[in-house]
Amino acid sequence: MENMGYMGKILWVDLSEGKFSIREETNDLRKLYLGGVGFAAKILWEETTAKTDAFSPENLLIFMTGPVTGTSVPCSSRYIVASISPLTNIWGEAHAGGSWGSELKFSGFDGVIIRGVSKRPVYLWIEDGEAELRDAKHLWGLDTYSTCEVVRKETDPNASVAAIGPAGENLVRFACIINDGKIGRAAARCGLGAVMGYKNLKAIAVKGTKKPKVYNEDKIRESVKELLPSGGITSDVRKNFVMQMLTHFVEDGNFPVKNWLKGTFEGFKEKIIDEWLKAKPSPCRGCPTGCLESNLTDNGERHIVWEAVAPMGSQCLIDDMKALQKAYTLCNMYGLDTISTGGVISFAMECFEKNIITREDTEGLDLSWGNSDALIELIERIARRRSIGKILGEGVKRASEFFGGLAYEYALHVKGLEIPAHDPRAIISYAVAYATGSVGATHTEALRVHQLEIGNFLYPELGYSIKPDRFESCGKGILAAKFQNLHNVIDSMVCCEFLLGNWALRRGTGVQPSYLVKWINYVTGWDLSINDMLKIGERIFTLKRMFNIRRGISRKDDILPPRFLTHKRGSGGAAESLPFLGKMLNEYYRYRGWSEEGLPTEEKLKELGLSTK
Ligand code: SF4
Repeated sequence: MENMGYMGKILWVDLSEGKFSIREETNDLRKLYLGGVGFAAKILWEETTAKTDAFSPENLLIFMTGPVTGTSVPCSSRYIVASISPLTNIWGEAHAGGSWGSELKFSGFDGVIIRGVSKRPVYLWIEDGEAELRDAKHLWGLDTYSTCEVVRKETDPNASVAAIGPAGENLVRFACIINDGKIGRAAARCGLGAVMGYKNLKAIAVKGTKKPKVYNEDKIRESVKELLPSGGITSDVRKNFVMQMLTHFVEDGNFPVKNWLKGTFEGFKEKIIDEWLKAKPSPCRGCPTGCLESNLTDNGERHIVWEAVAPMGSQCLIDDMKALQKAYTLCNMYGLDTISTGGVISFAMECFEKNIITREDTEGLDLSWGNSDALIELIERIARRRSIGKILGEGVKRASEFFGGLAYEYALHVKGLEIPAHDPRAIISYAVAYATGSVGATHTEALRVHQLEIGNFLYPELGYSIKPDRFESCGKGILAAKFQNLHNVIDSMVCCEFLLGNWALRRGTGVQPSYLVKWINYVTGWDLSINDMLKIGERIFTLKRMFNIRRGISRKDDILPPRFLTHKRGSGGAAESLPFLGKMLNEYYRYRGWSEEGLPTEEKLKELGLSTK
């Protein structure tokens, strides 16, 4: 049963030497860290030091799948990428769907780890256990769509290709990695595309015919059948879900308006609904339902998603849907994280309004709120690091340090990472989840808190049989910690974070953690309990915390931008709400067994089998 669910091998590529090696995984590694983010945390912890710079040959760029990747567990064709983030200088992590994750696994490897720096641009081609570095001089400068097309022509028309665009090549600190070309699946956050660009690695193409063995295929299929709706996914189900989601996001005040200053944006919801209902579903490989984030336009390009339409739309007071789709497509082609892009552009617009950034700085470009032409032009400049794009390409934290003075007030980030499109004043548990997230402000590490607090999903197995009050601070430290542990399991199995709240798979209370543990056991042949599984999640989250502590992080950094703590928006579904972060952090640290300074105690580390060495 040793290799059930796993291919058993990780490919190491040393770009400085142009050499490959293969390392076998140990059973201990699997049982303690599961795969995906868990493997990456253990490896990055051991192979780097407190001083390793994101842009250095010693930094690793880790692509990892998990035990369920490429199996018939639903929503499991994903992969994760981890590295030291050039944006935050701490743990960096990003996730993507599509088909790249399962294809890597079919090629015979659970993961691929890149170290060193190539002297010239190269791409990596992995097929059925063989790996080869190929010249990529002709690809340098191409966008991600064209790169995918050319690489497929040169390798295999059905290869899955993860690539960087000009933003990654130009070391934009929030450059992302895009896989599957026009389908535009993004490993978006933390600037890991820039690490790839620094290493002179343009793309990784994967293809394979090997399938992972699983312990009990029949049981997996049976359990998935239990969850699927008998009537299939009709357009009515879909429409209802669009309406429901948008209500939660917009009507409940859970979205950014004017760089997080306002609580409403007239007509925005209706415009998004119109657009989303027109989009064509295009689920990731192995996803039985699809979701609002996996649709295509009439041109066959990825349709705009929430984490683009809100950061680049309402956050900048732009509601021109055509312009927003264009901006989104450009971000995917150039390889830019749309959350951070919206973050720096709304920051620049506020600085422009306050005369901190002038027309002289922008070479005449008018950065007034709502100017969609300026949005498009800034995306071009950021990706090419031209003009003011050179400064904005550093992210809001560094850009605010450059402009100085009140610019700090308008730079919204946690630990250097720009804020995703969910407002911690509307869902109070996000306040503590953002403040303590492994990468900085991340929604995906505690994603399901919003479905619990403003959706219709309950999680009795985690102790939530009644919907908590979304404005109440008490208990939210514990809630955030529980969901962080659970999400670290999901990101290590590796399957889709939307699985728990998957609209079509829910049966009254959504996909519960017991399904996750069943799937791990059916795939591997293990006999984990829910508590065993959550302990693995806690171990992984705590190891990432230790990684960040080694790089200087403590309670002083577990903060939110002042705007979230002191500014009431005065309108919308969370007009008067402000989170009591200090109180929640105390509860959070106590629940986690950490000191008041946010450091895991020796006792806690021992309990989790971790050491500080
Ligand atoms: S729910 Fe959406 S993002 Fe997740 S696997 Fe399915 S299609 Fe992909």
